[in-house]
Amino acid sequence: MGRVVIDSEKCKGCLLCVEVCPRNVLKKSETYNSKGIYPVYAENKNNCIGCALCAKRCPDMAITEVYR
Ligand code: SF4
Ligand code: SF4
Repeated sequence: MGRVVIDSEKCKGCLLCVEVCPRNVLKKSETYNSKGIYPVYAENKNNCIGCALCAKRCPDMAITEVYR
């Protein structure tokens, strides 16, 4: 099982990571950050395999750590 760490203040809510995740781990949050943006979070965290595709896709380096 893998794990990702997301910096919700860096996330701009583009959802590119959601599209690229093969395990449907990531989801848009229902609460917004200090910039008024709804960041992603790992909803289905037990599905994560630590493939790091999300972190590579993120243009803002908001997925700061990937463990596997
Ligand atoms: S590391 Fe892979 S499985 Fe885990 S959230 Fe990112 S894209 Fe999805
Ligand atoms: S790709 Fe990065 S900036 Fe875009 S929603 Fe995902 S974590 Fe946020």
